[in-house]
Amino acid sequence: AKANGRNNFQFYAKEMNAELGERLSLENDLWHALERDELILHYQPQINMFTGEVIGMEALVRWQHPTRGLIPPIQFISIAEDDGLIIPIGEWVLRKACEDNQQLQLDGFKPIRVAVNLSARQLVQKSLVRTVSQILAQTRMQPQYLELEITESMIMHNVEDSISLLSKINKLGVQLSLDDFGTGYSSLAYLKRFPIKRLKIDKSFIRDIATDPNDAIISRSIIALAHALQVESIAEGVETVEQFEFLKANGCNEVQGYLFSKPLPIDALRIFLASNPVR
Ligand code: C2E
Ligand code: CA
Ligand code: CA
Ligand code: CA
Repeated sequence: AKANGRNNFQFYAKEMNAELGERLSLENDLWHALERDELILHYQPQINMFTGEVIGMEALVRWQHPTRGLIPPIQFISIAEDDGLIIPIGEWVLRKACEDNQQLQLDGFKPIRVAVNLSARQLVQKSLVRTVSQILAQTRMQPQYLELEITESMIMHNVEDSISLLSKINKLGVQLSLDDFGTGYSSLAYLKRFPIKRLKIDKSFIRDIATDPNDAIISRSIIALAHALQVESIAEGVETVEQFEFLKANGCNEVQGYLFSKPLPIDALRIFLASNPVR
């Protein structure tokens, strides 16, 4: 048993080394990803529940790695957050998303919002407000078509600073939404002090919404909370007609999910927009 235990240990140590090596190798490559133009954005349409119109899209980053293929964000965003690369990556995402959205308008598409995910590291950068306003000026996109997605945990542990920062962003005319809502810790007393435009119901509540009474109650409560706070609500991860009907019956404003479209490269998004007039 002893020898066996040692073998197991060696086995695990080897596994861990492989994992660490993998991470270091990715981290190393990530430093070059930006300069080599390997990051790309996919856009997932967001739909108004009642008119069926596309009213926005969420920008989701991917890494087109030269040998590993398309790498999803969960495999490199946390690495980028740990080593600080998330700052230039986040700025690139913001600029690219605004450029693409402005180009859609120039090409005659009906104006829609583009939502960009911010990481905690970006939110504590003193230069964030300046960066956002510079990018808006450079890309000439009107601020009301930019939405920034943040999470509860990013703002709840330093409420006063967050209120001040979010107010500055809000004054630029940019919209703010709370992503993954319901999964973090929110103080309801503070919630109404943040200049938030909409709550984004986390997809973990949506998945079993039609079959799990708890998830149904939570989702319904978040929608009711949004109404009480006079903010909008959007559900993510909507995959079925049942989920859609439940959300619609309960007054959710907007939806996003595979039921309508997965995240698309910009060219495919253009085709989607062109072929998707009001349903
Ligand atoms: P998120 O912000 O919660 O994004 C929603 C995720 O759900 C996306 O995964 C999207 O592809 C996926 N999704 C959309 N519709 C459905 C559906 O109907 N069913 C299911 N099961 N999933 C759906 P993705 O693109 O892999 O992104 C994962 C996470 O990576 C994002 O979660 C976000 O936290 C992070 N992320 C993505 N892009 C960026 C970025 O530019 N900056 C930062 N800081 N984080 C990003
Ligand atoms: Ca998001
Ligand atoms: Ca989310
Ligand atoms: Ca998330």
